Amino acid sequence: MKPAQARAMWLLRNEIYTHLDEAELFAAECGPYLSEATETIRLLVGDLVAVVRKVVGQHGETIEGRCGFCGWPWPCESIDTIHQTLREPGSAFAQIANDN
Ligand SMILES: [Zn+2]
Repeated sequence: MKPAQARAMWLLRNEIYTHLDEAELFAAECGPYLSEATETIRLLVGDLVAVVRKVVGQHGETIEGRCGFCGWPWPCESIDTIHQTLREPGSAFAQIANDN
């Protein structure tokens, strides 16, 4: 993999983790909580971010430019889908990113 490709892949992964960090931080800083349901939703956001973070962690580029987990050309379908979903205009992830 060429240095420029490696840098692009690092930026892609970093952008995904930044979106996840922002969502996790936003949920953690919400308060005061109005109800038990709101607290449960806050905890669910943290759990969902942890799930996505684990999936992203499984998929990584090899020196041959493929995903070491699923074998697809990098970025694989999983990473591409997660990245596109996090950047989808109008999503809460995009809204949080625009507010920061
Ligand atoms: Zn993959």
